[in-house]
Amino acid sequence: MSNIELNSLNVAKFGGTSVANFAAMQNCANIIKNNPNTRVVVVSASAGVTNLLVDIAHTAMSKDQIKQKLVEIKTIQYAILNELANSEEVAEKLESLLASLTDLALHEEIIHSADLKDSLLSHGERMSSLLFSAVLKQIDVNAENFDVRNVLKTDSEFGKATPQLEAIKAAAEQIMLPSLVNTVFVTQGFIGSDEQGNTTTLGRGGSDFTAALLAEALGAISCEIWTDVIGVYTTDPRITDAARPLPELSFEEAAEMATFGAKVLHPATMEPALRQDIKVFVGSSREPEKGGTWIVRDCETEPAYRAITRRKEQVMVTVKTPKMMYAQGFLQKVFTIIAKHKLSVDLVTTSEISVAFTLDNPANSVVEQLNRATLEELSQFCDVLVEDNYDLVTVVGNNMHSEAGVSNRIFDAVAEYNLRMICYGANPHNLSLLVNASASNDVVTSLHKALFE
Ligand code: ASP
Ligand code: MG
Repeated sequence: MSNIELNSLNVAKFGGTSVANFAAMQNCANIIKNNPNTRVVVVSASAGVTNLLVDIAHTAMSKDQIKQKLVEIKTIQYAILNELANSEEVAEKLESLLASLTDLALHEEIIHSADLKDSLLSHGERMSSLLFSAVLKQIDVNAENFDVRNVLKTDSEFGKATPQLEAIKAAAEQIMLPSLVNTVFVTQGFIGSDEQGNTTTLGRGGSDFTAALLAEALGAISCEIWTDVIGVYTTDPRITDAARPLPELSFEEAAEMATFGAKVLHPATMEPALRQDIKVFVGSSREPEKGGTWIVRDCETEPAYRAITRRKEQVMVTVKTPKMMYAQGFLQKVFTIIAKHKLSVDLVTTSEISVAFTLDNPANSVVEQLNRATLEELSQFCDVLVEDNYDLVTVVGNNMHSEAGVSNRIFDAVAEYNLRMICYGANPHNLSLLVNASASNDVVTSLHKALFE
C-alpha cells in the first residue's frame, strides 16, 4: 500500500447488501484495494441485521423469541467469520460484541428506553466493520477497525440524532487524519455518540450520511456510495423496465430525488457534499466495471426533466376552521404543533378556511405514532380530515418553474388520473403530484414514457 497525499482523499461507503456475506465483502475489498485514495471505509450492518435489531428494540417479544432473533443475527455474522483465514482474534471480538448485544436484547427496559435501543442498534455496524476490516487485512490492505463514536458527535436525540459538525471536524482531524497516510480506517455508518458518551443513531439508512459527514470533516474530494444498483436511475427500475441509469446528477437534483423517495441515498447525504463540494459516486459493488452515477455541483447538462421518484404511504391531512377567515396565526398554530412533533410536511396547499398538507406515514414507524399524536392535538381546535392510501410522485429537473411548457407535458401525460394535490413553483427542481396509491405505478410509467422514452 502506498502513502497518499491527503488532498485526494476518498471516502467509500458500502451498504448492507455489499457486506451481506463473505463473497460480497471480497468484492468491496477489491474496490478499496484498487483505489489508493480510499482511506476511510464506512459500512452498514450486514443486510437483514438492522431489521432484526429493530424488531428486538421495538416489539414486545418473549425471551425465546428474542433469542431466536439473536440466533439469526449470529448466523449471518458467523457465516462471514468462518470464511476468514486467521479468525481467532476477530472471533474473540465478535463474541464480546454478541455478548453485549445479548445483554441489551434481554434487558427489561429495552423497548422503553431510547438510549438502550440505540446501543442495541449500534451492534450491527460494529460487527460488520469488525469483520470487514479482517477481510481487507487478508488481502494485505493495512486496515484498522475504527470506532466512529470517537468522532461522530451528535446531540442526544436517540434514534434520530443530529450531527455536531464542528465537534466532528475537530475530532476527525485530530484522531483520524494523521493516520490516513498509511492506514485504511474501516468504520461504522449510522451510529454516533452524544456529549455524555452515550451511543446514538442517525435514523434508518443513515450510513450514507455518515460517509458524507466524514468526507466533509476530513476534506475528502470524493465520497463513493457502493450499493447493489449501478447508480441512480431515471426512475425505480422495479416500476418500469424502461428506467435507465443516469451518468450524472447535480447536488440539488440528487437531494430532491432522495427527499422524494429515491431509495439509493439517505436524504441528508447531499448536505455535506453541497457544503464542501464533494463529488458523490453511486455504483454497484457487484459490478463496479459498469460505472455509476456521479453527483456533482455542475453537470454537463441541465435538462428540464431528469428523473421521476415515488414515495409511498403518504397521508393527506386537511384542517379546517370557520374561524380561519382573516384569522391570523392559524397556519402558525398548525405548523407549531407539527414542528413540536418533529414531523416534516412535504406538500401544502391553502384556501380561505382550510389548509391541506401531506405527511410521510410508513406503517409501524415512529412517524406513524407521531402522526397520531399530532392529529389529536390538531383536532382540539379545528376539524381534521385524514385521507390515506396516497403516493407522492415527483418529477425532478431544472428550471421547471421558469420554462414554458414544462408542466404541460407533465399534465398531458397524467391527464387520465386523479391528482389529489399538486405542488409546483416553490422550487425550480420539482413538480409533485399526490395520486391514489393504486394508480402510482401507472402514473410513473406514463410520465416516464412521455418525458424520457
Ligand atoms: N444499518 C442501518 C439501516 O439499515 C443504517 C444503514 O444501513 O444505512 O438502516
Ligand atoms: Mg442504505
